[in-house]
Amino acid sequence: MPFSDIIGQDNTIAWLQRAIVEGTVGHALLFYGPEGCGKKVTAMSFAKALNCLDEAHRAKGDFCDVCRACNLINRGNHPDVRLFTPATTGGKTVIPIDAIRTKSGESPTHPLPLREDAQLKPMEGRTKVYILDPANRPGLQEDAGNSLLLTLEEPPNHVVIILISSRPNSVLPTLVSRCRPVRFNLSPRDAVRNALSTNAPDVDDITAEAITGMAAGRVGWAIAVAQNPAVLKTRQELMDAIMSYLPRGRRSALKLAKIMHDLSSAAEILIEPGEEETGGKKGPSEDQIRRRNMPELLDIVASCWRDLMICSMGEPTSLLNTDYEDRIRAIAGIISQADLRTGLHEIMRTKLHIERNANIDLSLERLWMTILCVK
Ligand SMILES: [Zn+2]
Repeated sequence: MPFSDIIGQDNTIAWLQRAIVEGTVGHALLFYGPEGCGKKVTAMSFAKALNCLDEAHRAKGDFCDVCRACNLINRGNHPDVRLFTPATTGGKTVIPIDAIRTKSGESPTHPLPLREDAQLKPMEGRTKVYILDPANRPGLQEDAGNSLLLTLEEPPNHVVIILISSRPNSVLPTLVSRCRPVRFNLSPRDAVRNALSTNAPDVDDITAEAITGMAAGRVGWAIAVAQNPAVLKTRQELMDAIMSYLPRGRRSALKLAKIMHDLSSAAEILIEPGEEETGGKKGPSEDQIRRRNMPELLDIVASCWRDLMICSMGEPTSLLNTDYEDRIRAIAGIISQADLRTGLHEIMRTKLHIERNANIDLSLERLWMTILCVK
């Protein structure tokens, strides 16, 4: 994807390109901003711009997307451009410490851990680029983060490390202090809507409007969802279920927990498929799949609660779930504002707990029991 196709981050990208042209990139960058707004795709494009073989593009801080280097990066095979993502081992989903450094007494893994690899000259390109996504806890824990710190403190000249985070407050402060912060922004509603008509022209107007609302400024998320009918179907099933089981009752709570259980097991609802585990060869376990899907599902529930709150305050002008407006209005009058506020808080708390490896089914039951006010 050329830089010009990344929507809503013009200033950030102009800044990055200027840094390449002027040779002021530095060795460590922290890309931060909301989820789904283009941090990772920009990081990969930036890695191409740093390593592209085409002189004319390079002179502008750009990349050609067709040379050998660009191609290898697109396929994830460039030996000097590496992406580090969490893998699940021993019940924890983290960037493994042995991907960052070799533990004492053990032999190095292949490919070499980041710290040892950084000491070698680039094999193909000009710059070794290491991208860590996400670079915040719980995905990047203290031990791996501290090992990374040594490279950040004395970076070899040919190395650029990009830390990606939608929660910069959860990045180890010692890492943040070594990085140049690069901010990514949410896009205005119009920009999201335009991006949808360009990238997903087959989606009908009502659906496009609903996706734009739910995207809340995240262009990448909106396009991914619009191009994946399974995600839309999942969202509709969940919204329909919530609308028919609200407002309260123990039976409704258990039913909604069960529905979320079933929806979370469907691998195809993943927003970002194909992110291979850095560890073992076999595919993700059912628990891993469910854990990955859960944030999206809980975001749908949160968007519904947010809309209910807005309606109950008498301002239904900026609903996220525009296609459910009538039903949301009808329910909003039945639940008190205080209960809705508690509900929204519980939803965010559950998301965090599940991210920190809490039992998914127990968390879901507890969530629904609490927000449907089952005493
Ligand atoms: Zn190129």
